[in-house]
Amino acid sequence: MTAEDPAALTDLAAPTDLAAPTTPIARCELWFVELTLRRPFRTARDTTDHRPLTLVRLIDHDGAEGWGECAALAAPGYSTEWADGAFVALRDHLVPALLAGVTIAPAAAPMAAAAVEMARVDLALRRSGRSLASRVGARRPAVPWCAVVGRQPDIDALLGVVGDRVAMGAAMVKLKVEPGWDVVAVTAVREAFPGLDVAADANGAYDTRPWDAVALADAGIVYLEQPVAPTAVLRSAEIARVGAAPVALDETLGDPAGVRAALAAGAGSVCNVKPARVGGLGPAMACLAEARAARSRCFVGGMLESGLGRAAAVALAAVPGFDLPCDLGPSAAYVDDDLTEPIRTDASGAVVVPDGPGLGRCPDVEELLRRGARRTVVEP
Ligand SMILES: [Mg+2]
Repeated sequence: MTAEDPAALTDLAAPTDLAAPTTPIARCELWFVELTLRRPFRTARDTTDHRPLTLVRLIDHDGAEGWGECAALAAPGYSTEWADGAFVALRDHLVPALLAGVTIAPAAAPMAAAAVEMARVDLALRRSGRSLASRVGARRPAVPWCAVVGRQPDIDALLGVVGDRVAMGAAMVKLKVEPGWDVVAVTAVREAFPGLDVAADANGAYDTRPWDAVALADAGIVYLEQPVAPTAVLRSAEIARVGAAPVALDETLGDPAGVRAALAAGAGSVCNVKPARVGGLGPAMACLAEARAARSRCFVGGMLESGLGRAAAVALAAVPGFDLPCDLGPSAAYVDDDLTEPIRTDASGAVVVPDGPGLGRCPDVEELLRRGARRTVVEP
């Protein structure tokens, strides 16, 4: 089989259009709103204490509506997209294309495209009275979750936050790490919480210190996520080959073909699948198919979503094949006052998969106005 062989291309996992059949859109509203997080979230790259979000509201000619959420962060860094830029991309390019009936390719602005796709999926499913969980083949009513814990001022504070998350029902924790805050932090948590699974996410912080990444991988963790930059595939493969813990890939995986290439190169053996990062729920399903074909373990990652995006991601996490705890905790782990009815846990601490029509959650317009959200109308 060669790269030129057309037959070799036929088995590439094609993204499914989860919004089919579609109805013409009469109107689109973009809502720009900010969430305040319960506590600042610090990674190797930046600190987030407020969360700007663009919500996409599509309304068809029958008055049915669907909502989507854009996960782009306040500044470029995690990816090349950022919240203000994604808003402009939606307002000036993606939504006008949608209203003109033009197919949107997610590659250039996946997080903006994912917001439109999510709204289209929500609209189509609400029209048919079907839930997203049912549409994607979710099999579990609730899913275990991994609490992602940002860097803290000191170890005592770290143990306090971990204890809080375990009390909320977290099945494992993942520490945001960077040189100077890695093995010591992991070891402290493992000693204070024996039996608790601990993972680490470096957001690419070990580019110039790969041997420190190997030391971290040898510290008894479940996986080491994104030790080096997204394109440093060969260096990631070297760490995966030498270190004890499997390497998980996040920023590296931009689309289904990218999943296949990175896994074939040995850059990792665990896939963090985020619908926003890969252009939507359909592409995320295709990424899962690629990962499973390569026998990779998988989980659904988080982007500090509101209840809307969180509901979509939790439904995806209940699909067979996502065999590690998802990064989507209950709303209460992140905000005091979510934009939607909160995402909750069951008596065992697992996150309950929304089973109502569409995404199973939607924002209340009056509540958005009360919060000072800005509405921009885009019409055909
Ligand atoms: Mg990550």
